[in-house]
Amino acid sequence: MELSEYLRRIPKVSLHCHLEGSVQAATVVELARKHGEALPGGRTVENLYDYPDILEFLKVYTMVAGLMRDHDDFHRAAYETLQEAREHGVRYREMFWSPMAHMGAGVPYATAADGLVAGIRDAETDMGIQCRLIADIDRMQEPEAGLEMLDQVLEHRRPELIGLGLDYAEAGNPPEKHWKAFARAARAGLHRTAHSCEDAPARNVETCLDLLGCERIDHGYHVLEDDSLVRRCAGEGVLFTCAPVSTAWVYFGNDLANHPIKTMVKEGLKIMLDCDDPPMFGTNPSNDYAVAVEHMGLGPEEVRETVMNAIDGCWLDDTSKRRMRRDWGREIDALTVQLDASPG
Ligand SMILES: [Zn+2]
Repeated sequence: MELSEYLRRIPKVSLHCHLEGSVQAATVVELARKHGEALPGGRTVENLYDYPDILEFLKVYTMVAGLMRDHDDFHRAAYETLQEAREHGVRYREMFWSPMAHMGAGVPYATAADGLVAGIRDAETDMGIQCRLIADIDRMQEPEAGLEMLDQVLEHRRPELIGLGLDYAEAGNPPEKHWKAFARAARAGLHRTAHSCEDAPARNVETCLDLLGCERIDHGYHVLEDDSLVRRCAGEGVLFTCAPVSTAWVYFGNDLANHPIKTMVKEGLKIMLDCDDPPMFGTNPSNDYAVAVEHMGLGPEEVRETVMNAIDGCWLDDTSKRRMRRDWGREIDALTVQLDASPG
């Protein structure tokens, strides 16, 4: 079996993928047409996802989010990304979404949430893929705006919405800025995670763990700058949800061979791999594994380990996780035999 096919078929848990970053360019064009909008700056389906830096990327991300306006748009976005995920071996996803981007564009929270939930339920019925949602705070906005979003999440509580996250540009917006929302989310029984140390000092990881009560860290690469924190995270088994392709592009000069993920694995940190904003960075859920294998020295054993790490770090109940470890472990081992048996 070819390596790419092997990596596609490996069963996966996805813990670091953004709904709004998952909308295919062709769908964005159709949504723009549906709502009578032109794509800004004369962009087309071909160059929609070309940008020079993270701030330009965030502008496009916000534009895409702004084209999702009614129940059907949210349903479609959720369904389509889960369809792609399923084709690449994802069987369970905890997916980020950015309610503040939609609320800022005048879409009621409940309209967006109900559209997503309907899309998720249909995807599970049609394809057997399971998905839960994590509402992300836009850290660039004021703490009050984050709290208002959380009010909406709790007022329109849906069983599929299980966690609170934190994203957008980290520089200048440290995690402590939004500590109140995280404290309230904890009291309300939501799980917590945060984008951290993609582009900021190691101490942000500590703040996320100790002040925000995060159960895992999204990205976290700059943790490597603090040896004692690395030892602590390795010892406590903190899971880092890493995205090889998107972060290489945004922060590491596209240098895949020297990507910090390689060192994180060497240092004994627990990582899993995911695709972040797949079409926006020209990737997909199995391609990020392929990149890690090709450029970061991960072999089948490490691939298996990252899948197990993702199972451990997801927010399903312990019985489900035990079953997944056992069944998926067997499945991965059977696939690995076929990989080894193939010529060349
Ligand atoms: Zn992300």
